[in-house]
Amino acid sequence: MKADLAQQRSLLELAELDAELGRLAHRASHLPEQQRYDELQASQRAAADRLAAVAIVLEDLDAQVAKLESEVDAVRKREDRDRGLLNSGSVGDPKQLAELQHELGTLERRQASLEDTLLELMERREQVAADQDREQAAVDTLDRDLSAARQARDEALAEVEQARTERAGRRAGVAGGIEADLLNLYERQRKNSGIGAGRLLGVRCGACRIEMDRGELARIAAAPEDEVLRCDECGAILLRLKPSGE
Ligand SMILES: [Zn+2]
Repeated sequence: MKADLAQQRSLLELAELDAELGRLAHRASHLPEQQRYDELQASQRAAADRLAAVAIVLEDLDAQVAKLESEVDAVRKREDRDRGLLNSGSVGDPKQLAELQHELGTLERRQASLEDTLLELMERREQVAADQDREQAAVDTLDRDLSAARQARDEALAEVEQARTERAGRRAGVAGGIEADLLNLYERQRKNSGIGAGRLLGVRCGACRIEMDRGELARIAAAPEDEVLRCDECGAILLRLKPSGE
């Protein structure tokens, strides 16, 4: 196959654009901004889980406190009733009176015990409420960090996407100017090995970087400049051109 130098230059430009597009695709899928976002998201979820767990503990404590308070209240009412009876002088029977005093004593001890338990519960509740405040603050901070990380990730992605669109547009223009046979050969080779064409770099193929032997180099040197050469090793179209822009 023959291809004039202009066609060869276009092919090299195409190969360089494809390499750039490959790098951009790699960058898009390995963004440090994405990694940071993923890490923060995991931390945020863990913190939200801890916050939810603390809220359940607090809810349980509140229920226990409410139950104890109503028990304390009930005992107090019975005490008041018993005291009322004692003070009213309406109970004259000494046995009944002794029973009433005994019950009042029991109720007072019960009341004291319930109040101790209530106090412990309230202290525990205070600690858990402090935990909740701390976890809530952590979640709030992580929410803000996550939102900033999302924005940074989106901006980085948009930047890569913009570069990709620009290169893809240029690629379409360059490919449109390459003869069908040469372009087909290039695309077939690119599909096979990932790189369709490479420059001859001294004694190496620019696509696979493998050094060529003397015989191969002599064959290349003897070939007319419009001859389409292939690398023996990787099959890439071998271009005897200076890099674009030089
Ligand atoms: Zn090669």
